[in-house]
Amino acid sequence: MTSVVPKVAVIGCGIAGAVCASNLAKNGVSVTVFDLGRGPGGRMSQRRDITNEGKELFFDHGAPYFTIENTVVLDVIKEWKSRGLIAEWKEKFGAFDCISKSFIDSGEELSSRKYVGIPGMNSICKALCNEPGVEGKFGVGVAKMEWAVDQKTFSLISLDGKFLGNFDGLVATDKILASPGFTYITGQPPPLNMNLAPQLALKIEQIPFRSYFVLMLAFSEPLHAISVKGFSFIHSEVLSSAFCDSSKPGRSSASECWVLHSTEEYAKKVIADAGRKKASEATLAKVSEELLLDFQRTGLCTSQPYFMKAHRWGSAFPSASIAREDKCLWDTTKPLVACGDFCVSPNVEGAIQSGLAAASKLMELCRNTSETTSN
Ligand SMILES: Cc1cc2nc3c(=O)[nH]c(=O)nc-3n(C[C@H](O)[C@H](O)[C@H](O)COP(=O)(O)OP(=O)(O)OC[C@H]3O[C@@H](n4cnc5c(N)ncnc54)[C@H](O)[C@@H]3O)c2cc1C
Repeated sequence: MTSVVPKVAVIGCGIAGAVCASNLAKNGVSVTVFDLGRGPGGRMSQRRDITNEGKELFFDHGAPYFTIENTVVLDVIKEWKSRGLIAEWKEKFGAFDCISKSFIDSGEELSSRKYVGIPGMNSICKALCNEPGVEGKFGVGVAKMEWAVDQKTFSLISLDGKFLGNFDGLVATDKILASPGFTYITGQPPPLNMNLAPQLALKIEQIPFRSYFVLMLAFSEPLHAISVKGFSFIHSEVLSSAFCDSSKPGRSSASECWVLHSTEEYAKKVIADAGRKKASEATLAKVSEELLLDFQRTGLCTSQPYFMKAHRWGSAFPSASIAREDKCLWDTTKPLVACGDFCVSPNVEGAIQSGLAAASKLMELCRNTSETTSN
């Protein structure tokens, strides 16, 4: 290690990366977080759109909310609650049967507390990457990393070939690290070269991810036929759930905004027909029409939306959890850690647990490297 204060790069500012960065900084590490996206959040992003009439709309188009059971994570979110970053979404939730065309009680939906970021799902990541000791760099995709054995530092290169700096430790929070298939499916940039940590790469490479489409809708009037603010669809081949974003705490209620989620089967079919590369405008327009039509068939969508836009999540949920015990993966020869929901469970809670574990592990690996260097 060359620096007195360890310098660490975190690749990805989703919730796993943001939690990891914040915890490293609290332990005196100087952290730089890089993300491809325009801002923090990853799959907890909030999307801003401007209508043709100049109206500003916000949608939580990724995770609509999260629930927590783990006691360590409950302590973490208590602090976020006290800082005003999150609040409980205290509304009625249920399920809608598309055959009987009626809402039914779903005990599961009612049982767990649902938390949302304030004023958007990205609020936590935003706040964590603005904490002292953390510097966030957005719109920066990391394409290449190199490990200098003598100096014991990583150097990072961006997608456009720019040198991003030297770092004593590295945390990668996306399975993009190792999967050539990911590039193909999402149209995102090529995976990092993980030849330096082939065993890590191999494990990450094998994780399948499930794809989904979402449809963002804005109405001038409330949809009076809907008695709940979030629900799952039963007996629909196209729609899996719907959430009224404008009913969440801290959101504008000037328009009624809904986000519909497709079923996995529907997404698979569209991707099989349209190809796996980034969804074209034409594909997204077709998806918008089909999801809206299915919503209208339920009889719940009683007025015409004045805004609608579809989004594809090429890698919405990992289908495997590959480090349930350790909660993150690491290289045994250098301070390199991988974390994210794919390590623990395919949700925000799993990603937080993984980010916490990654921060502890990286501190340990940096200490080991430092001791080896000084001996
Ligand atoms: C539609 C949808 C619905 C969901 N519903 C729920 C729900 O109800 N409850 C729940 O708990 N969870 C839900 N989830 C899952 C939840 O959002 C994720 O489990 C969680 O946000 C994952 O966080 P993460 O930090 O592991 O990964 P991500 O949020 O994906 O973060 C990874 C980040 O890495 C960045 N990145 C990748 N490659 C590079 C690179 N080369 N250079 C720089 N940056 C890079 C990406 O841009 C991204 O921001 C949902 C997700 C989706 C998409």
